[in-house]
Amino acid sequence: MSHSPKVSLRDLENHGAFIDRHIGPDDAEIAQMLRVVGHESLESMTDAIVPASIKSAAPLALPEAITEEEALAKIRAIADKNQVFRSFIGQGYYGTLTPNVILRNILENPAWYTAYTPYQAEISQGRMEALINFQTMCADLTGMEIANASLLDEASAAAEAMTLAKRSCKSKSNVFFVSSGVHPQTLEVVRTRAEPLGIELVVGADSDAAGTDAFGVLLQYPDTFGSINDYKAIADVVHARGGLVSVATDLLALTLIAAPGEWGADIVVGNSQRFGVPFGFGGPHAAFMACRDAYKRSMPGRLIGVSIDTEGKAAYRLTLQTREQHIRREKATSNICTAQVLLAVMASMYAVYHGPQGLTRIARRTHRLAAILASSLRQAGITVGDGFFDTLHVTGVDAAALHAKADQARINLRRIDAGSLSISLDESTTRADLIALAALFGASISDIDALDASTADALPPTLVRGSDFLTHPVFNTHHSEHDLLRYMRALADKDLAMDRTMIPLGSCTMKLNATAEMIPVTWPEFANMHPLAPAAQALGYKELIDGLEAMLVECTGYDAVSLQPNSGAQGEYAGLLAIRAYHRANGQSQRDICLIPESAHGTNPASAHLCGMSVVVTKCDANGNVDVEDIRRAAEKHSDRLAALMITYPSTHGVFEEDVVEICKIVHEHGGQVYTDGANMNALVGVAKPGKWGSDVSHLNLHKTFCIPHGGGGPGVGPCAVKSHLAPFLPRKLGEDSPVGMVSAASFGSASILPISWMYITMMGQQGLRKATQVALLNANYVAKRLEPHYPTLYTGRNGLVAHECILDLRPLKDATGIGAEDVAKRLIDFGFHAPTLSFPVSGTLMVEPTESESQVELDRFIDAMIQIRDEIRAVEEGKLDREDNPLKHAPHTATMVSGSEWTHAYPRELAAFPLASLKLQKYWPPVSRVDNVYGDKNIMCACIPVDAYKEEADA
Ligand SMILES: *Cc1c(COP(=O)(O)O)cnc(C)c1O
Repeated sequence: MSHSPKVSLRDLENHGAFIDRHIGPDDAEIAQMLRVVGHESLESMTDAIVPASIKSAAPLALPEAITEEEALAKIRAIADKNQVFRSFIGQGYYGTLTPNVILRNILENPAWYTAYTPYQAEISQGRMEALINFQTMCADLTGMEIANASLLDEASAAAEAMTLAKRSCKSKSNVFFVSSGVHPQTLEVVRTRAEPLGIELVVGADSDAAGTDAFGVLLQYPDTFGSINDYKAIADVVHARGGLVSVATDLLALTLIAAPGEWGADIVVGNSQRFGVPFGFGGPHAAFMACRDAYKRSMPGRLIGVSIDTEGKAAYRLTLQTREQHIRREKATSNICTAQVLLAVMASMYAVYHGPQGLTRIARRTHRLAAILASSLRQAGITVGDGFFDTLHVTGVDAAALHAKADQARINLRRIDAGSLSISLDESTTRADLIALAALFGASISDIDALDASTADALPPTLVRGSDFLTHPVFNTHHSEHDLLRYMRALADKDLAMDRTMIPLGSCTMKLNATAEMIPVTWPEFANMHPLAPAAQALGYKELIDGLEAMLVECTGYDAVSLQPNSGAQGEYAGLLAIRAYHRANGQSQRDICLIPESAHGTNPASAHLCGMSVVVTKCDANGNVDVEDIRRAAEKHSDRLAALMITYPSTHGVFEEDVVEICKIVHEHGGQVYTDGANMNALVGVAKPGKWGSDVSHLNLHKTFCIPHGGGGPGVGPCAVKSHLAPFLPRKLGEDSPVGMVSAASFGSASILPISWMYITMMGQQGLRKATQVALLNANYVAKRLEPHYPTLYTGRNGLVAHECILDLRPLKDATGIGAEDVAKRLIDFGFHAPTLSFPVSGTLMVEPTESESQVELDRFIDAMIQIRDEIRAVEEGKLDREDNPLKHAPHTATMVSGSEWTHAYPRELAAFPLASLKLQKYWPPVSRVDNVYGDKNIMCACIPVDAYKEEADA
């Protein structure tokens, strides 16, 4: 009998185990891949890739890695420091009961939360159906013709309404009127947005709206104190002057009160949070925008439309993309890229589940509770406003004494001033809540039902809703849990997300979203905290936020971080606002030019434009590097007016450029500031720090580098990180007095998803974060190297290596064979893969970013597919496959295509469906064949498909 040598307890405990779970390849695979790339070790490879001038000398000053269990215990202790009171604060955020079937099967289900933005229509039909339900729901309830697929929050949606009104109105006025009845955070964000655009804000009572010559007005319906006002007369006056009426509203209230579209609103915005999405201390939630059809080409944000596939079947796609930043750049209608898809999906499912009757019942019950409470308070001699839905405006009271009493009862009321407060009721309010609330005011309710019987409704009789909504069958079918469960499953099955395949998207860093990172998000201590709860109740959040900010400061080399921006593009906006305010504080307000290399992401120029800056585009050289001489020339030429340079590092071309330090120097010599787009931080963490090589500010994408899942196109968190001289100019928090206003509705943006990044950094520790970066570099170079004989990599950096992504050039093949990057992207679907990034940053190419989380097995599977596709292209080249009738041009192939009784193509069915034998073991069938983009943009249709169309399809 042989004894193996004893292993120590410490070695067996393996505190760094999470690192090996997060990083795909094991040490043997890493060694093998390093050989392919031609390096001895990760260190020597890193040295060969990263310029010495930027490399960090010291390791990250972060703790060592810990296990999932240890990290969960730590964050549990943090969560326990939050005290969740019953919240009746309202002000745009209301309690809701997330249906458990939606909680588990959407919010906690990787099939939904790990999906990417639906650019590849054929593999995104499920989430696009959910989004078109969202659009239909918002359009129906608001009484408008068209609605988009979500915006970041109600406040930024209101700011977008202002700029949409400016673009679309006939009025020549430069004034935007904002009612003092809008939520305070909405006013804050609109004010921030107006200032750099030179729009003059006039804030006043509703009664002043008609008397102000404005290009647009913003009203709140019901208003922030709960009162439901008749705005028809105002709308008529504004229209007569050529202005537009924007309204912020509440979807639940709209089930009972007249739709804004019925009394003259042109643009309607709001938050869908109370449709099943928890408070989350401010977010994420899906805001919406609905408007008249006439403005659809000028609308901000993503829009799902209906088109047809090659078989003539109805199919969804992102429509009117020519409005968007990725195509129109500084002329885009907004800088929105990531929005709030996952939360929009949740809200839409809430409406699908409850249907119009269920929603109306929830609204009626909420309203009855509010009316009953008002009666009881009035009986006790308290003054309560009239004409409300769910919010009571209580005046003439000793507010401080009442808040103290409420605090004792673990109840939060909205603080207004010394003599007034408000109480917002919601779906989650109970009879016991009502009794407790009344008791605070010395009122006692002995018999709720008796009081109910003697209390009339409090809705203004002239504004009671008479019109139908949500009449489409989708909102009238899935009302049992089984039905909804199966509907959600059927939609998820149509899509490819990270739970089925790697999503090798260049620039977007689709890496593992570990379950342990996700678990704390739905803990009630994080999920159920109202964003305006007193600070003393949110000590856990404070610790989490302070801790995460410090971690990000350490990872980036900057001095301060704001977590308020709720997307990367909002982070850019916040960073550029900081630069703008800094120049102004130094008496340099003429500095308004932003240099942006032509290879930049579209959000860069769009954000600069929003900050009132003029964009000057600089060139890239033949190697894909930003052209330093062109930057020098532009900086010299515009020296007096130079505000900033925006540069992405490593570049969007996937290389570590040598000259970045020199570039920072040039910009600084001419008085400008350097903005580094941090979307590519996955190539830098633990290796180099932008804040240390001369950059002044960056945004990060926590939904890329720091493991927040993409959600099918949001949520995101785009922290803005700055050097100390810009720290005073970070976005302020609600009620704070500092020079730059808020960029998001909530002080800490999408706070409830911050545990994900906190858990990631905590479990990886300093050594794990660095290794993740190195393996990300290795995986990209392995893919580039193995595909080199088949597809040339467009740009490489020092020693012929790429950074964390590589651009495969398909343009020569297109010239020779007519097969282009899009055909390859669609053919990959037949292999069960999500395509890489198509035609960004270079048209006709595919950009592959495998990330550290993909194992060698998965990389090889992808490489095999790409090689097989190359063989097919070669067969076209050699005349063995027809130039037009080949599996690439007709990809992707649906099950109906290949199983039809007739097969007329010039290539075999088996090649169409099973180009690799391994696919016979596991096969993804796309629900539609290639979607027609031209048809979709010519025939704009952005609501649920009428049922007749389905019938015709089934009969055909
Ligand atoms: C993703 C990305 C952005 C925008 O981030 P969002 O969160 O989508 O707004 C900006 N720049 C680059 C290089 C990106 O990859």
